[in-house]
Amino acid sequence: MEENQGNATVQNEVKTKFCKYCGAKIHEDAIICTSCGRQVEELKGAQAQPQVVVNNTNVNKNVNSGRYGSEKNKWVALLLCIFLGWIGAHKFYEGKIGMGVLYLFTWGLFGIGWFIDFIVILCRPTTYYV
Ligand SMILES: [Zn+2]
Repeated sequence: MEENQGNATVQNEVKTKFCKYCGAKIHEDAIICTSCGRQVEELKGAQAQPQVVVNNTNVNKNVNSGRYGSEKNKWVALLLCIFLGWIGAHKFYEGKIGMGVLYLFTWGLFGIGWFIDFIVILCRPTTYYV
């Protein structure tokens, strides 16, 4: 009578291991136990988590913040434009020094800029901001 001791021969089978939690026979490469669902192996490369570099430097400089709040009166600018527009007085009044100098040397852009500015200022509200 031959005794069958029930020794499981693992040599010819797929390489297996036993879950360290529940003891179930699982594939050697298994990371998660198929029986109890626990993680039996460390995930390779799990330590090297993707480094998310949040480069959230605020470069949005509000360059216009200093410009508003400079209150100008329409009638002052209009009178300056009418009487001294050819030297760019209204441009200097609005703080546009560059344009003022340009008007000064070109006689208000040969009168064209002077005329346009007169219309523009005329259409402005009584108090405007530059
Ligand atoms: Zn298990």
